[in-house]
Amino acid sequence: MATRKYEKHFFPNPLIKGTGVKHRIVMQGSKTGFDGLMKNYWLRWNCITKPVSMGDPHTHDFDEIFHFFGADASDISDFQAVVEFHMGEEDEIYRFDKPTIVYIPKGLKHAPIDIKVVKKPIIFMNVANAPGFVMLVDGKPVVPDDIKP
Ligand SMILES: [Zn+2]
Repeated sequence: MATRKYEKHFFPNPLIKGTGVKHRIVMQGSKTGFDGLMKNYWLRWNCITKPVSMGDPHTHDFDEIFHFFGADASDISDFQAVVEFHMGEEDEIYRFDKPTIVYIPKGLKHAPIDIKVVKKPIIFMNVANAPGFVMLVDGKPVVPDDIKP
């Protein structure tokens, strides 16, 4: 129970155990933060240190925004990685090697996200206007293991 009026607006120490790095963040507005004040906010933040492929092709019923940038906080433009981002029913592949933000409106099929080259760590962050992250893979709801609450 909050002891001061705005206590629940602060979410201290959101860090959880990382994958390949010490910490990462997975925040689900409805479950892990702000005491239910902000339900439609979901965030995953992680540092990527080696190539990885993420996600089966999927859709969801909320928008999602991906952010890719260099992990050196003093120069996030230092992006030494190559990402191949699969988009749409057509499976168009968008390859980029610069800091990039990708907007996925609800219902648009996307993934996998193949991080092919990592010469220096990068930050991978995605956010969604949803209370939790549920993908629809072939119409079936799936919650990836690394973000289960
Ligand atoms: Zn998605």
